[in-house]
Amino acid sequence: RLDRYGFIGLGQMGYQMAKNLQAKLPPSDSIRIFDLNADAVQRLAEEMKASTAGGAVVEIAKSVNEAASDSDTVITCLPEPSHVKGVFSQILTPDLPKKDRIYIDCSTIDPSSSRQVAEQVASAGQGQFVDAPMSGGVVGARAGTLTFMLGAPDSLVSKLEPILLRMGKAVHHCGPQGTGLSAKLANNYLLALNNIATAEAMNLGIRWGLDPKTLANIINVSTGRCWPSEVNNPVKGVIETAPASRDYSGGFGISLMKKDLKLAIIAADEAGAKLELGGRAREVYEEAEKAENCKGKDFSVIYRFIGGKE
Ligand code: NAD
Repeated sequence: RLDRYGFIGLGQMGYQMAKNLQAKLPPSDSIRIFDLNADAVQRLAEEMKASTAGGAVVEIAKSVNEAASDSDTVITCLPEPSHVKGVFSQILTPDLPKKDRIYIDCSTIDPSSSRQVAEQVASAGQGQFVDAPMSGGVVGARAGTLTFMLGAPDSLVSKLEPILLRMGKAVHHCGPQGTGLSAKLANNYLLALNNIATAEAMNLGIRWGLDPKTLANIINVSTGRCWPSEVNNPVKGVIETAPASRDYSGGFGISLMKKDLKLAIIAADEAGAKLELGGRAREVYEEAEKAENCKGKDFSVIYRFIGGKE
């Protein structure tokens, strides 16, 4: 095979990303897939093989080691820092053949954990580890329109871009390893706050007697405009395609928002950056996640949590 790929972590995002990558690789390449969820691996392998799009040869790995050992490029898409550290402690065993591999981690984790793993990869003589967290959600993963924030040495960018563009539409090189995650967490910190602020502002206006759509239309041409007000408005009926209009189902889960905010706060602490609002916002997401009428929902359900008029 010309280029061998390994893909570890076939959840909501990874499943769709691996599928797009496989379909867009030439048949001279191969992709070896692995997840702890054997059903997901089996289902994905069958879907890939049944696809008329052609693509790379599909192989099923029985362990993370098998997914990595022969590969030139290994992509990971795992939930939290502990999963990434755990997977790499399994990969980086003394019997793993030394090779100049590229490890692309698309998980949203904190920059310090990411740097730690990158150092372990380098000192084990196993190649280079870069961070490429993404935005665009499950919809973007399925459509292959993700935006990647890449933290990698300049010398690798031209090699990494075409790989990532098989799963997304844009790659922003942010600087050296770890900086992709810094960009991702800074953005998601702002998103976490904007979401709460939008819920509060909408509730305020509605209780003052304003029509929700009229208020949103004004905000969206004024200085309060933001993604939660314009695209993911938390009030039912304002945006028909937003999760709020389908009882907050689908979308960006409240537990993922809570996780990203927690990671941003950890990274801010390490950098000595003071966050006045982060701590309180974290409490709001933590409490909302436990509330019976909010758990498992899109993060815009904060509107319901704060007692927004429905
Ligand atoms: P997910 O929980 O759906 O999937 C994670 C997958 O990793 C699961 O299939 C799980 O079985 C697998 N896994 C866990 N430990 C493993 C191990 N040791 N070996 C092999 N597989 C293992 O999560 P997701 O929604 O796909 O998100 C993945 C990452 O992408 C997260 O860090 C998340 O924050 C980030 N992200 C998610 C979204 C989104 O909208 N879902 C958007 C942007 C970024």
